[in-house]
Amino acid sequence: MRKFIVAGNWKMNTTPKTGKELVKKVLKKAKLGNVKVIFAPPYIHLMQTHKLLKGHKGFFAAAQNMHQEEGGAYTGEISVGMIKEIGVKYVIIGHSERRQYFKESNAILLAKTKKALENGRKVIFCCGESLGIREKGTHFQYVMRQLSATIFKLTPEEFRNVVIAYEPIWAIGTGRTASPEQAQDMHFAIRAAVKKKMGEKLAENTPVLYGGSVKPSNALEIFKQPDVDGGLVGGASLNADDFSAIIAAARKTEMGR
Ligand code: PEP
Repeated sequence: MRKFIVAGNWKMNTTPKTGKELVKKVLKKAKLGNVKVIFAPPYIHLMQTHKLLKGHKGFFAAAQNMHQEEGGAYTGEISVGMIKEIGVKYVIIGHSERRQYFKESNAILLAKTKKALENGRKVIFCCGESLGIREKGTHFQYVMRQLSATIFKLTPEEFRNVVIAYEPIWAIGTGRTASPEQAQDMHFAIRAAVKKKMGEKLAENTPVLYGGSVKPSNALEIFKQPDVDGGLVGGASLNADDFSAIIAAARKTEMGR
């Protein structure tokens, strides 16, 4: 059975000091049950975050990105070897901000994903359409094309360590959330596509997270959808009370499944 996951993407927010305080507060407040919780801090406190989580069952750290090469003259980048050596299991790849501001193409994202998986990491792979595409009504085709050009090129063996995050760009950081039905429809389509490409077992076992203005007031309704297996949370993950409330909504849903 697939896991329920709540992942917090801090983006370029928090400092080592405020990041440490945030983790400690969540560790005190949150009751996980079988839910997995992931923190993705900026690189500078990734190692600190990973260490703070040691001994706390169900909590993990994630890198927000990594380079596709193993090393070399790539100023400002980090490699999978660095992530591996500090023991961090998860890497977010393909966030829409990486695609938009850093021009990461599907080909680059596939190379990054392969490199992470080859090195024993787990990948949270993001996909999602812009407002223009949603309004045109071609969002299903668009997301399927994103997946076909990237993670659907993996072998089933590689795919075992992939978590998918559906994040409609129009809902990220805008306060505008996809309705539970809109989320479910896309998650259902994604799972059906995984089944076609990778087989029934992987379709059943692959967590598909929703991302886009998840907050305590809407988390439960979204998480209750049968093909939604948790959330990738930006803004609300920066507040310990809000993030803990989202984890509580995930726990409640997970217990009812
Ligand atoms: C994100 O950036 O992954 C995200 C979902 O952000 P927010 O929750 O702030 O919309």
